[in-house]
Amino acid sequence: MDFRPTEEQELLRRAVREFAEAEIGPHVMEWDESQHFPMELLPKLAALGLAGIQFGEEYGGSAMSAVEYCICIEELARVCPAIALSVAAHNGLCTSHIAMFGNEAQKAEFLPRLVRGEVLGAWGLTEAGAGSDAASMRTSATRQGQCWALNGSKSFITHGSIGGVMVVMAVTDRGKGHRGISSFVLEHGTPGMRAGKKENKLGMRASDTSEVVFEDCRIPATRLLGEEGQGFINTLQVLDAGRIGIAALSVGLAQGAYEAALKYAKERRQFGQPIAAFQAIQWKLADNATRIEAARLLTYRAAYLKDRGERTTRESSMAKLFASEIAVKAADDCVQIHGGYGFVKDYPAEKYFRDVKLVTIGEGTSEIQRLVIARQLLGQ
Ligand SMILES: Cc1cc2nc3c(=O)[nH]c(=O)nc-3n(C[C@H](O)[C@H](O)[C@H](O)COP(=O)(O)OP(=O)(O)OC[C@H]3O[C@@H](n4cnc5c(N)ncnc54)[C@H](O)[C@@H]3O)c2cc1C
Repeated sequence: MDFRPTEEQELLRRAVREFAEAEIGPHVMEWDESQHFPMELLPKLAALGLAGIQFGEEYGGSAMSAVEYCICIEELARVCPAIALSVAAHNGLCTSHIAMFGNEAQKAEFLPRLVRGEVLGAWGLTEAGAGSDAASMRTSATRQGQCWALNGSKSFITHGSIGGVMVVMAVTDRGKGHRGISSFVLEHGTPGMRAGKKENKLGMRASDTSEVVFEDCRIPATRLLGEEGQGFINTLQVLDAGRIGIAALSVGLAQGAYEAALKYAKERRQFGQPIAAFQAIQWKLADNATRIEAARLLTYRAAYLKDRGERTTRESSMAKLFASEIAVKAADDCVQIHGGYGFVKDYPAEKYFRDVKLVTIGEGTSEIQRLVIARQLLGQ
């Protein structure tokens, strides 16, 4: 057992940190206020290998490990959780689904453009009436000769309005329950597909979240991803990996909030001394630093097991559950340590506090993570 990162991993952390601080840091509030995902950042992310973190070099990817993926997402989230969310959705959901379940022709067609950052990826599972109970989706795909016709709509889709490629789950045989769901890959702009309402969000505002509507949207039969009827089962495997990414995002966000609180506690003086001299403040800092370390270890362990090719359903959910909940606490304490200044936009505290709520909701709520863990424990 060796808990130390390798020299290459330390260099990677430093490179992503420097990039995030230089290229993202100065614009965080501007992008948040305008709810604008900076498409101009995409080539820069790609140049650093962040548009294709875990994908093969034959597609132009960086072929990094799951542990290294965590380092990248963590460092982006430390500076801007919204950009980290977009990078995680692009890599960990859309591109990952195609890499895991696409055939050679589909991978050759879609992966290079995604990995080179020419287009952003979107992944559509959730619907207005089917969130945690995703298998109750209504969107359908009906076979018509050499085509599939998609009808329905997907809600809360990251890059729903700006994504160039989308993976979408739809019912192909309603009589078969979750075994009647299949996944498809299509280009944005396919006739019959359009972006619906763009959400006006509490946090993660620089990451686009939109509805996607399908009205008799015809795609070639070759756009079926994986086997017919396996879409939902494949989705659960994508989420096993995706949740490690959200755990890493939570760790990075918590780290950013903790560092902001530590800095402020040393600078702010009350009763003739820095507030960091008060034990009440010190305990908050100590508890957060400890919880962040614990969350990081759980997250890296899940990633390490994934790198060894093991199934990580339980470990991914444990990491996501714990890291997201300690991140909420870290962001809350960050505001508290800033006092009134935590409530205004001149300091980073309020943005961490708004962004953090997504991590206990996206890619399965905390309640659903507990349900997944309990099922694993009970052998169900
Ligand atoms: C910013 C953002 C980005 C997103 N990006 C994507 C994306 O790219 N692609 C995508 O497909 N989806 C995306 N989502 C959707 C997200 O995954 C869902 O919001 C999430 O899974 C919860 O579904 P819901 O919102 O319908 O909540 P619901 O399922 O309606 O849950 C409401 C409450 O009930 C609880 N609950 C539900 N079922 C149970 C149960 N069995 N036991 C106990 N409690 C339960 C939940 O935990 C929650 O507290 C995104 C959401 C947001 C906010």
